[in-house]
Amino acid sequence: MVPASFPALTGLVATLVPHAAPLPWYVTVIYMAAAVSFVFSLKWLNSHKTARRGVKMGEIGMAAAILATVFLPEVRHYNWIIIAGIIGSGIGILLAVLTPMTAVPQQTALSHAFGALAAALVGTAEYYSQYSHLTPMHTGAIAFESLLGYLTFTGSLIAAGKLQEVLPTRPISYPFQNPINLSVLALAVACGIWMIVSPAHALLYPLFMVLSLLFGVLLIIPIGGGDMPTVIALLNSYAGLSAAAMGFVVNNKLLIIGGALEGSSGFILSMIMCKAMNRSFLNVLFGQAKIEKAAKADDVYGGKIKTVTAEEIADILDGARRVVIVPGYGLAVAQAQHATGELFETLTARGVDVEFAIHPVAGRMPGHMNVLLAEADIPYDHLKEMDQINEQFDDVDVVIVNGANDVVNPDARDNANSPIAGMPILNVDKARTVVVIKRSLSPGFAGIPNPLFARDNCLMFFSDGKKATLDIIQALKKT
Ligand code: NDP
Repeated sequence: MVPASFPALTGLVATLVPHAAPLPWYVTVIYMAAAVSFVFSLKWLNSHKTARRGVKMGEIGMAAAILATVFLPEVRHYNWIIIAGIIGSGIGILLAVLTPMTAVPQQTALSHAFGALAAALVGTAEYYSQYSHLTPMHTGAIAFESLLGYLTFTGSLIAAGKLQEVLPTRPISYPFQNPINLSVLALAVACGIWMIVSPAHALLYPLFMVLSLLFGVLLIIPIGGGDMPTVIALLNSYAGLSAAAMGFVVNNKLLIIGGALEGSSGFILSMIMCKAMNRSFLNVLFGQAKIEKAAKADDVYGGKIKTVTAEEIADILDGARRVVIVPGYGLAVAQAQHATGELFETLTARGVDVEFAIHPVAGRMPGHMNVLLAEADIPYDHLKEMDQINEQFDDVDVVIVNGANDVVNPDARDNANSPIAGMPILNVDKARTVVVIKRSLSPGFAGIPNPLFARDNCLMFFSDGKKATLDIIQALKKT
């Protein structure tokens, strides 16, 4: 896929083409073909039917681009390239094999971080090796590349930490947050402009670098809950734009094209996600948090939680005509997709109409639930997007929420003071009966209680998502 593999090319060109000479004709042809393959790759990634083809096309284009770059005539020594290639590929293969599906978003954030760092370091090296005779255009490209590269590096590390839950997932706030963030950005931009006007002021660069790194941290710490998916798409875009600027700095047209494609596609994706999630694009763009205090769990749940057993759920399902299953992040953690496929078949064989309601940010990456359910061969026409099913929940007998939390939290719809207010949710609370499978009353990614669990029509089945599903199937077989 272009965005995921692009850091490889960024790093490679960074080391190989510091002052690019005119390209041999065959490299130009390969670069052109690679650029076309990236465009087709993005086009095919748009639909689940052609997505695999899109991934393959992106991989082929990237492999061709890397090989063409490695065999440029000005590359005379291969020792460091081979060593770096072995270490980098080794780490990449290990990461790909060992990373569980639930940790792919963190892995993507890390790959953005290191791609952006490669671009920023090239900008730094270019600046220090040539600052006394740089043109304003050249310094401008270096400043743009370094600003975006360094802020994407620290921003993506913070995002990876939040997604891995080694850092608090909730927005972090402090007094005068937004003015401070914007002032740090303004200072960094001012340093960049000063360097363009007076490139010989090399002492300014370390300050510029520190401000850019700091802004990356400040940009992401106030983001949490519903804004995280959008900010990851945005960091993807920044890493691409930084690589495109690097293309200008080292005079590599494929980097410009690839970086621009990654930058624009990430930007468009983040705008689409903001619209779908009812968030302000400008707030996400500048890291401006909407920080509201969440209610206390005891106040929301105290004395109102009703639990249920697998046998009782089987009895309820026995009389159901229409059932909707809502998968969430916990279903991915429990690896319950195949058990869920079995539950789908068991219920369908009993004449129940079973559908799956897919929230656009359920799980930890866009399309996460679609991928999981496709693994279990659940027919695509039974998967319903949020807009398709949301008006129909009052006609549903039983909703089974498996490992979802934030995406079914009615506070987003009903409580203007909720930290996730305005985020569209699946209206499962409108169904006749809601069964929620999760291990405890722990919150989801947004870190807030969910009043759904205390509703009269909601029953909690505290268990692991896979074990619970298999237990329900067993119980159904006995009814
Ligand atoms: P949530 O993160 O809101 O909730 C997941 C729930 O799963 C938890 O409450 C947890 O409860 C439960 N769980 C965890 N492990 C298991 C298990 N083994 N078996 C059963 N349940 C389990 O998930 P949602 O999918 O509802 O929402 C996604 C959230 O992630 C949103 O806030 C979204 O903004 C955010 N996000 C989404 C991204 C995307 O692109 N899709 C990217 C980044 C963030 P318990 O511990 O009690 O079991």
